[in-house]
This record gives sequence, C-alpha cells and structure tokens, in this order.
Amino acid sequence: MLEFQKIKELSEKKSEFDKGRFDEIIHKSISFEELSLDEISFLLGIEDRDVVSDLCKWAFEIKRLVFGDRIVLFAPLYLSNECSNKCLYCGFQSGNEYEVRKTLSVEEAVNEAKFLTKRGFRRTLLVTAENKKICGVDYITKIVKALYDETDMNILHLNSAPMEVDELRQIREIGVGVFQVFQETYHEETYRKYHVSGKKKDFYYRLTCMDRALTAGFKDVGIGCLLGLYDYRFDVLATIEHAKYLKKNYGTYPHTISVPRLRYAKGALVENPPYPVDDTTFKKIVAVYRLAVPTSGIVISTREPALLRDEILECGASQISAESSTAPGGYTGKVLNEEGAQFTLNDTRSLEDVIISILEKNMLPSFCTSCYRKGREGGVFHDLAIKGHIKDFCEENAINTFLEYIKNLEDTAKKERMLELFDRIYKNNQAKEKMVCVLK
Ligand code: SAM
Repeated sequence: MLEFQKIKELSEKKSEFDKGRFDEIIHKSISFEELSLDEISFLLGIEDRDVVSDLCKWAFEIKRLVFGDRIVLFAPLYLSNECSNKCLYCGFQSGNEYEVRKTLSVEEAVNEAKFLTKRGFRRTLLVTAENKKICGVDYITKIVKALYDETDMNILHLNSAPMEVDELRQIREIGVGVFQVFQETYHEETYRKYHVSGKKKDFYYRLTCMDRALTAGFKDVGIGCLLGLYDYRFDVLATIEHAKYLKKNYGTYPHTISVPRLRYAKGALVENPPYPVDDTTFKKIVAVYRLAVPTSGIVISTREPALLRDEILECGASQISAESSTAPGGYTGKVLNEEGAQFTLNDTRSLEDVIISILEKNMLPSFCTSCYRKGREGGVFHDLAIKGHIKDFCEENAINTFLEYIKNLEDTAKKERMLELFDRIYKNNQAKEKMVCVLK
C-alpha cells in the first residue's frame, strides 16, 4: 500500500539547498496544493538552523490559516498497562519486572475522568495496553459507555491495540470519536527488531489498521511514528505517505498526526534512542508535517520539555496534552505516578501554567469539542478546513469554552493573569465583541 522502496530512496537522497526551490514549495503549500514526496524530502533535508526557523514561520502561518489561533487541550487517561507485547523501548513491555500492573475498573475510570473534567478537560485520550482478554473490545465498550453516561467528557479518543473491523465498528457505534494507533516505525526490518513478541509483532496488521477503522465507520483516525527508532527522514516521509494514502482512499487526511519522541522508560530493554532526534530537527519535523498535511491536528505530548513545547506552538502544532499521567489511576492517586508509568514525562506543569504560556503567545487555549458533536468529522472537516472555514467556528468556540473554564477556576491569582492576557489579545481585534453564548 505504501511505496517503501521509493520512500527509502528519497529519504537517502542528498540535495543541495536551493532557495528558489524552497520558495516554490512554500508557495505551493501556502496555496494548499499537495506537496510531492520529493518536495517533502527536500524540506526534511534542510539543516541550516536559519532556514529551519523560516520553515517553522511558514508552518505557523499555515496553521493559523487553517485553525486560527486556537490550541486544543486534552489529557490522556490510561486504562491499563497489562500488556502482552514485548516492545523493547516501552515500560509496559510484558517482561518489565518494575512495572506495577493495573487495569482500571469502570468505577476507577469514571473517577479518573471526573477528576479531569473538574480540572476543565472535555476531551480525553483513552490509552490501553494490548491484551485482548483484559482490555479488549468489551472492556473498552463498558468504559466508554460509563464515561459518556456518568461524566462531562464530550469526546473520547482511543489509543489501543489494532482490531478487527467488527470490533472497531462496536467501538465506533458507542461514540469513540478518534481511533489512534502509531506505527512506531514504518521500516519493516527495524520494526521486527523492536517488537519481539505479542500480536504487535505483526507489522502489516498494524499498518492496515486505519483501513479497518475507516471501513468500520470511523471518520477520524490518528497516526504517527515514534521518533528515535529509525532514521527520521524515512519515518516522517512514510507517515506523510500514509496520510496521503488515507486521503486518496478515504477522502480525508488523518484527524491527527502525533509526534512522540522516544523517552527513557524504567525497565525498558532499550533505554536510549538508536537514532536520536535533536530539538531543531524535532521542530523541523513538526513544521514539515504542517506544510505537507495542512488540515491534520499536529499533537505534541508532555514527553517534551516545557520550553520546547512552548516554542513548538509557533512551528505548526495545534493540539497539546497537559498535566498528564501515563499510569493507570495516576490522577486520583491509586497508583503513584512513576510506578506503572509508560515512560517518564518532561513537561510537568499544571494545566493553568500551560494555559498561561499559550495566552502569553497570543494564542487561545480551547476545550471545544463541537466539531465532533456537530458532525464536522472526516471529509466534511477536511473540506471546510482546506477552504479556511474551520477557523471561523474555532475561534468563537475556543473563546466560549475558555471563558467557561475561567469562570470555574479556583486559583484567583492565575485567573486574574489569564483574564489580563486574554484582554491584551482581544483589545486589538475586538474578537470579544464577536463572542456568542451558544456554541456554533
Ligand atoms: N496501545 C498502545 C500501543 O500500541 O503500544 C500502548 C499505548 S502507548 C501510549 C502509545 C504510544 O506511546 C506508543 O504507540 C508509542 O509510540 C509511545 N511510546 C511507547 N514507549 C515510549 C517511550 N519509551 N517513549 C516515548 N513514547 C513511547
């Protein structure tokens, strides 16, 4: 389905930097013309820091054209770390004797979600280990039903093991909005080296999982590669080729492309990334995703340090997690954060501090979930976004959901600071006047 040989050749191709070509590609991208793999590989080959910085500015411009100034906020909710796979880099790997194993009961999952909604989140990413018996489709179904019935969560994304079409249909029918699986690496030989036992060993079963999800009725899916496992030029090109493949065959780019970078995990069998990616390259990768796949949400997690996450907001990212725990039960303290966690976190700031940083950059934190609730999913979302119409919905909705969040905030000093920053942004363009009470 993906032309791996071509991707490999392009990822190894060395081309001299050519300013004329760079300008042409940027012009194409800003006009929302699809870039060829050759053009994307040229962008990935840029090494000069000043040019990378220029690239990031253009990516930010495109992000603003498509999504406006808003940054979507979410938190992950880890349900289970009882994994039957052995992935050498992961703390959940089945042989990890340090791992405190835990699968949340329905009641515990509801409590975790209530904790998150009290903090202000309305969107959560459910994360499960791969174990059909313990956290398979029936378990996930029970959890999803309870979270929609008993909490104020408006949209659930799911990162779980790849599944069969009928299982995915069951999960879609109970209202999971986005189904997410990362390929980790698209390089088959490397994939086999790092996924040594369990169902995840099967490279092609994982690769074809989005085809099954979209066949099962999902409109929105999330993909990504784990940076650090193999040459990023190959993996990023392949991720983009995967996105193009989905658009060609199912009418839309993936809803999200996540950009996880390998982190130390206690008890993992590989502790350091075999192909480390430095911060400048990380920014370039985010920018290239934005230029090549303009309507996908680009997601940055708390694996990354606070300062870099702030800078990445100006390189084209559009969604970030905050205040995350990667241990089942980590929010309500049933399991201490570090025990049973999947990897160590870097940005441990509170949600309030993340919000203040977003506002300091003149951007708008958003808890909005209305696209999902109003059926602006998949191809519908893509067609609106590519014409620049999504941001018309987003800005007002972001303002409304944010003001609702501030209203309930207990920390008065942070509340004051947020309001001050908010006023500073909107004095200029009178957006406050455009504020509406009902979400569009
Ligand atoms: N069901 C998932 C799976 O497929 O393995 C388990 C959930 S896990 C949160 C999701 C992603 O975390 C994995 O797909 C991988 O990309 C990433 N991950 C695993 N180990 C990691 C590590 N040591 N550092 C950073 N990210 C890691």
